[in-house]
Parts: sequence; C-alpha cells; structure tokens
Amino acid sequence: MKNKQFAVIGIGRFGESLIRELSHMGYEVLAIDSDEERINYAIDIATHAVQADSMDEATLKKLGIRNFDVVVVAIGENVQANILTTIILKELGVKKVIAKAQNALHGRVLEKIGTDLVIYPERDMAVKLARSLASRNLLEQISLSPEYGIIELLAPRVFNNKSLVDIGLRKKMRVTILAIKRGNDIIVAPGPEERLYDGDILVALGSNEDLQKLSDWE
Ligand code: ATP
Repeated sequence: MKNKQFAVIGIGRFGESLIRELSHMGYEVLAIDSDEERINYAIDIATHAVQADSMDEATLKKLGIRNFDVVVVAIGENVQANILTTIILKELGVKKVIAKAQNALHGRVLEKIGTDLVIYPERDMAVKLARSLASRNLLEQISLSPEYGIIELLAPRVFNNKSLVDIGLRKKMRVTILAIKRGNDIIVAPGPEERLYDGDILVALGSNEDLQKLSDWE
C-alpha cells in the first residue's frame, strides 16, 4: 500500500470513479456516504466504507478524518451538505480539502470558506473535450494556471526531419519542448539540435494561446 491516505465523501458517479482509480493505484481510500446501498456497493472498491452523514461533526472526528492527507467532497446535488461538510472538514484541521462545485456561485462559496481546491468536473471535462476536438494533434493537456499549460501532441507533419531550433519552437513559437516520445524511447529535455520525425509525440509547455497555435499545425 502506498502511504498517502485519501477519503472520499459522496459516492455518486464521480466519487465512485475516483475511489476506483485511487484503489487501483494502490492507495488506501475511506469512502463515506449516508446511503446504505451506496456503502454496500463501495465495500468492494474502497479500503473502508462507512455509512455516515458527513454533516455530523462528531462522526467525522471519530473516524479520525483529520489524519487523512486529502479529503474529497464529492457530494453533488445537495449543495448544502457539500458546503457544510467542507466547513466542518476545514474546522477539524484537514490539511487538503477538495470539493466538487455545481456552478460558479457554489464554487465561490467553497473558495471563501477555505477549500484548498475547487473542481468543476463536468465543465473541465467539456472544456478539455472541446479543445481536443478543435485541434487536430492534441492528445492530452494539463492546466498549470489560467494562462499556462502543458500539452501532449502528435508532432505536426511539417516538422518532419527538422530540428527544434530550425522550427523556431522556442524563439518564434514561444513553447518549450519538455520531452519527445519516439516509440518506446523518451528524450527528456531535448537540446535545440534534436530532430523531430513523423509519429513523434511532443510534450510542450507554454501559454494556452501559443500551445493552441502549435497543436493546429498540420
Ligand atoms: P455524480 O454526478 O458524481 O453522480 P451527483 O451530483 O449525482 O454526483 P449526488 O448523487 O447528489 O451527486 O451525491 C453523491 C453522493 O453523496 C450520494 O450517494 C449521496 O448519498 C451522498 N450524500 C449526499 N449528502 C450526503 C451527506 N450529508 N453525507 C454523506 N453522503 C451524502
């Protein structure tokens, strides 16, 4: 077992997928839900599953919730339960609380009460999908800030047999290539003379605008 401990409160579709993935990666996960059926289901995928109302501070305390490295509030529809649970977790001293917001206003409230990370899974997934549908070479993206990110893309064909400096990736296009994946090989922090070939996968860092331009090349 890996030593980071997670708790997920609310086992809807999002909470369930999160629990499954963390367990699959070898982490200990405590699942909490007020619904008995959900808990019976979670027993098979989580390390521990506890039926409890997360608005009940005493119960969370008893579960030793403050010792968990990260607690994710994945309660959706019930905004009140989502907010109250988050407040209680912060008051109990949980180091990192991540909460799922239903909309922008809900997100603002969560930020004001000290949520360490507010997520909007449906919106973020839709934005990701829209971007990858719109650009022909984009494979994966990580947002670093509202302006900057890292993308993984298929090297545009016009780059074939040209070096990074010839293409002017850094000077003209203002993006930094962090790595090149070529078959089973990975070239980390390639130098300016490194050549690109058809089928290469590039990991690039830059502003969203510059990355968008890069991934639109044919
Ligand atoms: P998803 O889109 O991920 O399916 P959702 O928005 O449909 O999520 P809900 O079904 O509203 O989310 O909530 C997820 C889970 O949270 C449910 O299984 C529900 O029983 C649980 N839940 C709601 N309120 C509480 C609470 N106070 N304490 C514990 N669990 C709760």
